[in-house]
Amino acid sequence: MEETIFSKILRGEIPCHEVYRDEHVLAFLDIQPIAHGHTLVIPVEPAATLDRLSDASAAAIGSVLPRISRAVLKATGTKDFNVLQNNGAPAHQTVFHVHFHIIPKPNAEEGLGMGGWPAKDIDHAEGAALAAQMRAYLAED
Ligand code: 5GP
Repeated sequence: MEETIFSKILRGEIPCHEVYRDEHVLAFLDIQPIAHGHTLVIPVEPAATLDRLSDASAAAIGSVLPRISRAVLKATGTKDFNVLQNNGAPAHQTVFHVHFHIIPKPNAEEGLGMGGWPAKDIDHAEGAALAAQMRAYLAED
């Protein structure tokens, strides 16, 4: 994986407003927050996208996400929030080191907007085949 700005933050070469750190995980404030308290949670492991992250790092992040979320909510006096995780440029990823956004949603204006959510009804026959295919891939992974 190519170096990213987050590698430099992990090594302390670029400053950040650190929120949490352990052996596997770093959390810090986003430099361009879309809501007060917008926080990023990243693995120390330099994986570009979530599907390339090890189970150990994923488990480490998963186990601290609720606790970090609680701290973000308490510090901002917010009770609603989104967790966003982008993978790939078309999916709005700009830094190619896995990261989870914790974004407080204090009101309709601030935080994550859901302007484009092109929902349509599932085709159940197609869905059954698709889910079976996914189960098969999971069984061999
Ligand atoms: P993405 O669009 O890849 O999901 O989000 C990347 C996030 O990283 C953006 O919200 C952006 O503001 C944040 N970011 C980019 N560079 C820096 C930086 O140098 N420091 C911090 N704290 N955040 C950054």
